[in-house]
This record gives sequence, structure tokens and C-alpha cells, in this order.
Amino acid sequence: MWFLERLILKRLLLLLVWGLVCGVSSAHAQTSTPPPKQPPIPSQVLTDGRNASLALYFDTLKQGGIGVLHLYGEGITDARAQFVRELWSFVPANDGLFLLLPIGIDLTARQYVLSVSVGYADRTRTLIETLLTVSSGGYGRQEFIVPPDKAYLIAPEIERLEYAHLSGLIDSTPALPRAWDEWGFSLPSTSEITSAFGFYRTLNNTTQTRHTGWDFRAVPGSMVVASAGGEVVYADALDIRGNYVFIHHGYGVFSGYAHLSQFLVTRGQTIQRGQAIGLSGNTGRSNGPHLHWEVNVNGKWVDGVQLTEMWLP
Ligand SMILES: [Zn+2]
Repeated sequence: MWFLERLILKRLLLLLVWGLVCGVSSAHAQTSTPPPKQPPIPSQVLTDGRNASLALYFDTLKQGGIGVLHLYGEGITDARAQFVRELWSFVPANDGLFLLLPIGIDLTARQYVLSVSVGYADRTRTLIETLLTVSSGGYGRQEFIVPPDKAYLIAPEIERLEYAHLSGLIDSTPALPRAWDEWGFSLPSTSEITSAFGFYRTLNNTTQTRHTGWDFRAVPGSMVVASAGGEVVYADALDIRGNYVFIHHGYGVFSGYAHLSQFLVTRGQTIQRGQAIGLSGNTGRSNGPHLHWEVNVNGKWVDGVQLTEMWLP
């Protein structure tokens, strides 16, 4: 528990300092006050011996983490990364090509080979290879009691179908250019965080599951705001997530807002960072009023708070 307590304490202190500095009262003000994040210095720059440089903005990546890769150089047309038997395409942004590499929450902590295939205008390709270390997320265990009237929702099949439904949404959403601004992502609520990303949860002493997001204490009717600009791809009821808003922010980044009591947006709507998208509630598989907020990058559920703290292209 010390890990969660430390996290919550850190968040609370940050919010407190923020409030004192900015005199913040509304969620919108909280999300628009901080200065834009500055690009960090890469921890490593690799080359292909020709024109390409590959900058890595991390030392190690934790389970459920996100790594920024930046590829640049004369005459480069495309790039693909292979990591743990999966293939990802780089996307153009700023000066060069970028990839937001998501690390699965269940990926075994050890070293893996990262291979980046670089395409040139003359149709030749080069290869950059390195070792990436995936570290443990240090995620704890939590007992979670679902009230009797919602206990049928702990059936693993219901969870499997809901994840499949969300995967289908992600896969069928057309590619969008980056919709976030220079502030990147921000938290969807000013309320206190009550449960962190990554927990191994046991529901009603039987069903095992993972916590794919962050929970905020929120009395029903609290304002929930979009973490970044984007397009609403879903605003409807789900079994476990209850009333759910799912937003595509471009480049394969999605954020989800669960257990809402009311929708303030509809599917297909374009929204801005900090815009109210719904009111918090207690719908779906929830054991009390709260907001569950989660982030999916290129098909994997990752730590949304890390996304709010990191620089993005
Ligand atoms: Zn949650």
C-alpha cells in the first residue's frame, strides 16, 4: 500500500501547490494554466550508419508505460519498429517521424530487442537495433467488492466481450493526425485520486482482473473534462464501464471516461482539451460514485498519469 499512498500523496501535494500558485477553482483552469512541456534531452541517440538518427526519450520502460521514439535524417520516407513480435509504424510530426511505444501491463520485466527498419526515398532500407529494458510497474493487489445488484458483472466473459468491443472501436477508427496541443494531456478531474493504474484486483474474492485506469473520487454530477483535444468515437452505455465516453486524440491515442451519470458530448463530435464531456456517476461495475479514467496507446492500456507528465511530439 505504501506505493499507492506515496502516489496519492504526491498527487495531492501537486494539486495543492498548483491550487496555491494559480488560485485554481475550476477544472478548465487547472488544465490550461501550466506552461507547455519542453522537449527533454534524449537519453540515447542511435544511428543506422547512413542518415538516420533514432532518439530515445527514456532509459527504461515500465510495464504499462509509454516510450517516445524520434527518427530523423535526410531522405527518410518511413519507419517501422518491431518490439516483442509486434510491428508499429512511425508517424510524421515536427521534424521527423515519431512513435509512441506502448508497453503491455502484463509484459514480463526483462530486456527485449527493439528493431527499427528505416525506409529511404531510393527504396532502400536500413536497420537500427538496440536493447530495451522493461521494468516492473510494482503494481500491488487490491480486493474489490462489487455490490450484490451488480455482482453479475464480474463474469470474466462480460469483461472479455467489453475489451473486444473497445478493441474493435480502436481498430475501426480511421487514423487522425495529432489532436493534442503543446500542453499535451491533463487530468480529467480535480478530485482526489482513490485508486492507481495497474492494480491486480480480486473482485468479490473470485474474479481476477487488472485496473487499466485511474480512479477519482467524485460526487455524482462532478464535471469531467477531456484530457486533450480529439474526436468522440463512443458515448454510450457499456456493461462494466457504464456510461462511457471514448475519445480519439490522433496517432492511436485514446482516452476513456467511465461510470458517468450524464453525457455532454455525442459520437463524432470534435472536442477541445478541458472541455466538459460528461458528469461523473456510479453506472456500470462500480462500487461507489467515482470517475474511472483510462488511456489506450496503439492498442494497449497504459498509465494515463505518465502521459500527462511526459513531453509528447
Ligand atoms: Zn477504475
